[in-house]
Amino acid sequence: ACLDRIGQVDDAVHAFLHVDVEGALAEAAASDERRANGDLLSPLDGIPIAVKDVLVTVGLPTTCGSKILEGWVPPYDATVVRRLREAGLPILGKTNMDEFAMGSSTEHSAYGPTRNPWDLDRIPGGSGGGSAAAVAAFEAPLALGTDTGGSIRQPGAVTGTVGVKPTYGGVSRYGLVAMANSLDQVGPVTRTVLDSALLHELIGGHDPLDSTSIDQPVPALVEAARQGATGDLTGLRVGVITELGGEGYQAGVLARFQESLDLLVGAGAEVVEVSCPSFVHALATYYLIMPCEASSNLAKFDAMRYGLRVVPEAAAHGGPPSAEDVMRATRDAGFGDEVKRRIILGTYALSSGYYDAYYGQAQKVRTLISRDFEAAFAQADVLVSPTAPTTAFRLGEKLDDPLAMYLNDLATIPANLAGVPGISLPSGLADEDGLPAGFQVLAPAMADDRLYRVGAALE
Ligand code: GLN
Repeated sequence: ACLDRIGQVDDAVHAFLHVDVEGALAEAAASDERRANGDLLSPLDGIPIAVKDVLVTVGLPTTCGSKILEGWVPPYDATVVRRLREAGLPILGKTNMDEFAMGSSTEHSAYGPTRNPWDLDRIPGGSGGGSAAAVAAFEAPLALGTDTGGSIRQPGAVTGTVGVKPTYGGVSRYGLVAMANSLDQVGPVTRTVLDSALLHELIGGHDPLDSTSIDQPVPALVEAARQGATGDLTGLRVGVITELGGEGYQAGVLARFQESLDLLVGAGAEVVEVSCPSFVHALATYYLIMPCEASSNLAKFDAMRYGLRVVPEAAAHGGPPSAEDVMRATRDAGFGDEVKRRIILGTYALSSGYYDAYYGQAQKVRTLISRDFEAAFAQADVLVSPTAPTTAFRLGEKLDDPLAMYLNDLATIPANLAGVPGISLPSGLADEDGLPAGFQVLAPAMADDRLYRVGAALE
């Protein structure tokens, strides 16, 4: 049914970069057989899933939305992908994304944009617009995304889906092509909170192949969702973050946010206002740290190891092209503008003489943001805000204005800088445009279960 649906709508939506018809059908048939014999591998055995094209998959091309990896088929599976396979989930294919996960609209994909199923002239969010659109368009019940600054939660908000960024270290990053190692995290994109809990429990937990993986059991997420579904949140303290709301936020988004808050109060929660003064610097901090890490990570695309290799016919020096000439021509042809912009920014900020002024300074502010979270979580069990300041904007609207695009991540970025988990829940449709708005819930590190309790209570 999912493959049929993909056939019907994906020419218009373009959520997928690659669909594995044969592989998915073979896995589904194997699952049917297990079901008949009564020996299912997991609660999600046989449930199809779409995987963001930044996670490596044996036998399936992995492009990261970039021309530089065109035609590359990885020789190993990401740990999360291996866990999907071992649990019997048929993988439908790989989903579209902003090149190397840099963007908030999926318009920076080298393979053309994904469109929002709610309105095909609008963006589906980014960088994981493909995963969110696939779920919103009923092409897949489940998807995996990655969130470095909001790429699971913001697409979730603008497509009316549930998106979760787990605690940093809670889900293995092994086989996730790194954009910014200290910020990246893999997580679920689904239509319901319980589905996310089931998927999160499956992919979460310690992995010796990821040195930042936390060696602790995953909290009981499905149990927390079941508890929340009773609708009783008595005693829960909910902190509204003063700095994430108000000016710059669309009225309809704020109205739906207030409604969700009222629902929490109705369920017995106590609402308090908390201030996180350093959050106003989160965007600037992120857009230094992230390009620094990215510029270093992307150095490995040197035309020798992976994918594309462009050999220039004539080198400027007149002789046969050197390795450096090939590298330059390949990176020039293989990377898009946004990726080049961030490589230049990151390389500049890391260069000697500037390191202390930019990267060092950003790391200090990062610590202040973590301290703001600590202080806020002393006053509240969870923190809430709108996920994104606006509903989905029109394709092309912010393409020529990187800063306007970056501003979309205002409310999602602090969680990545501090490593705390977050969920975006559909909060209804904004009055101005009838498009989905998102409600974000944040919890302390390794208290991901709270996201599911609150999420299920709101559903
Ligand atoms: N939109 C943010 C950026 O462009 C976040 C991307 C992400 O989370 N991968 O960096």
